[in-house]
Amino acid sequence: MASSPTDADDAFDQFLTDRGHSVEEVGWEQEYNKKQCPDCGGLHDSSASSCTVCGWDPRL
Ligand SMILES: [Zn+2]
Repeated sequence: MASSPTDADDAFDQFLTDRGHSVEEVGWEQEYNKKQCPDCGGLHDSSASSCTVCGWDPRL
C-alpha cells in the first residue's frame, strides 16, 4: 500500500505537536530567559536563530 504525501505531512505535524516543542527551540539550551549555545556556551536573546559566536545553527 502506498501512502500519500498528505498523510506523511499530517503524521509529522502530529509528531511535533506530541513533542510539545516548537521547531525554533530545537537544540538550544535554556539559561534563564536566554538561549545558550550547546556548542560554545554563548548566550543569546530568545529571538536568536543561530549562534553569533561560533556559527552553530540548530537547523543544520
Ligand atoms: Zn556557539
